[in-house]
Amino acid sequence: MTSPLTDAPIWYDPGVRHLWFPYTQMKTAQPPLAVSHTEKTSIHLNDGRCLIDGIASWWTAAHGYNHPHILAAIKNQLERMPHVMFGGLMHEPAAILAQRLAHHLPGDLDRVFFAESGSVAVEVAMKMAAQYWINQGQRRHRFLFFRHGYHGDTLGTMAICDPDEGMHRHFRGILAQHIMGELPENPDKLAALDRLLAQHKSDLAAIIVEPLVQGAGGMRFHSAETLRALSRLAKKHDILLILDEIFTGFGRTGHMFACQKADLVPDIITLSKALTGGTLPLSAAIARRPVYEAFHSDDPDHALMHGPTYMAHALGCAAANASLDLFEREDRLGQARAIAQQMTAGLEPCRSAAACADVRVLGAIGVVELKQAPDIPRLRDAFLARGLWVRPLGSVIYLTPALTIDPKSLDQLMRGVCDVVRSL
Ligand SMILES: *Cc1c(COP(=O)(O)O)cnc(C)c1O
Repeated sequence: MTSPLTDAPIWYDPGVRHLWFPYTQMKTAQPPLAVSHTEKTSIHLNDGRCLIDGIASWWTAAHGYNHPHILAAIKNQLERMPHVMFGGLMHEPAAILAQRLAHHLPGDLDRVFFAESGSVAVEVAMKMAAQYWINQGQRRHRFLFFRHGYHGDTLGTMAICDPDEGMHRHFRGILAQHIMGELPENPDKLAALDRLLAQHKSDLAAIIVEPLVQGAGGMRFHSAETLRALSRLAKKHDILLILDEIFTGFGRTGHMFACQKADLVPDIITLSKALTGGTLPLSAAIARRPVYEAFHSDDPDHALMHGPTYMAHALGCAAANASLDLFEREDRLGQARAIAQQMTAGLEPCRSAAACADVRVLGAIGVVELKQAPDIPRLRDAFLARGLWVRPLGSVIYLTPALTIDPKSLDQLMRGVCDVVRSL
């Protein structure tokens, strides 16, 4: 891998020789683009080009890049204390953030455990669920997950991702064995899931699902009614329900949290991605009161034995508090709904393209699914030529822009997608 440019910055080639990139066959991949800085919904490259960002840096930058309010909060916290260990110590940014998250989340989801990445938050949620039963004298070691689900890349979370998309075949024998179900989207699937749960209930700690949208597994939507049906089954069989809102949380679906659209309260919820508005790594696993109470005891063995070194990172918590300020002060949910309207109209012309299999929009998520996986390098170049940063998931081209994107930039993104899809 060397720079495709003659005017690459001097750090490019020496750096690229030592870096290992995500989800990348290093031998054949196109070299990454050198970014000099970001601004609002733009990514500025070192060679002077400026790209409109269609995916908000893996769905994190909800308010656009370099939002002055978040930057000021980080700078202010930086002067006082970038970080301090969370064992035996605590600090104001975490105290405030925990209260505010509890306030924004529905029901009694009010006990917040902070970590640094989404995968680790899911691992913590899994440990909470398993130990919830252990502390009550029951051994329930399995999780029920869904086809096309994605919950992270660590060994624990890979075992609850779609086995085909997660490339489980490489790791057979390493991954724990859990149980995959189908989302109860129709009466037959509902009955099948009911039977599956009845069969495995004494083994199952929890059901885990990405509510309303399965993100990395292909931006697949399901209804609030499907989610409610799932929640009813979990209650019926006395199995905990974990909602992984790492992607859907913070307005992406047009609701602050997707579970609010279905009017339900999971036992545990996981958050990350847009939690700090795309500035710093931070995540949380948040439990309902009855889950927490199973740990609250005089027995030291009943404690939750987990503690990331950078737990409740003070800069991250300050950034997250500033991001929540923006959600509270500005109409982000209204913006998400306006984006949904604009995308519903703007992506419609793609539907008649020969290569197009489906067009769908939910909140600030617009999807054009192709009939077959495109030539990704060719697609990347076609988007770059139009000044756009769009990165498809296999055959799924999607837009998840910042919720603050202006209508003109969004229009350029959608025109680009439609042009490129029509040219396939
Ligand atoms: C991105 C994502 C994760 C993993 O988060 P990381 O920070 O990449 O570890 C887990 N669950 C969902 C739903 C995600 O979208």
